[in-house]
Amino acid sequence: MPRDSGTSRVSRWDQHGREHVVQVLRTGVQRTIRCETCGWRRGAQFLPWLKAEEHLAEAHQATVDPTVPRQPQR
Ligand SMILES: [Zn+2]
Repeated sequence: MPRDSGTSRVSRWDQHGREHVVQVLRTGVQRTIRCETCGWRRGAQFLPWLKAEEHLAEAHQATVDPTVPRQPQR
């Protein structure tokens, strides 16, 4: 059984180190993006990841991409 086919996620951290995740769900040609933090959701036919990033930045001030190496701040 293939896993993670058609579903992906965008995760960002806010300045408090909390992770916020937006799921990108694929249903046919349409994609739905849904925020796990606040339940926000919307359809996005194009560039759902961009919309997800926008939401994370605007709603949660979460702009830190955990997949990008950064200087550890301690
Ligand atoms: Zn949200």
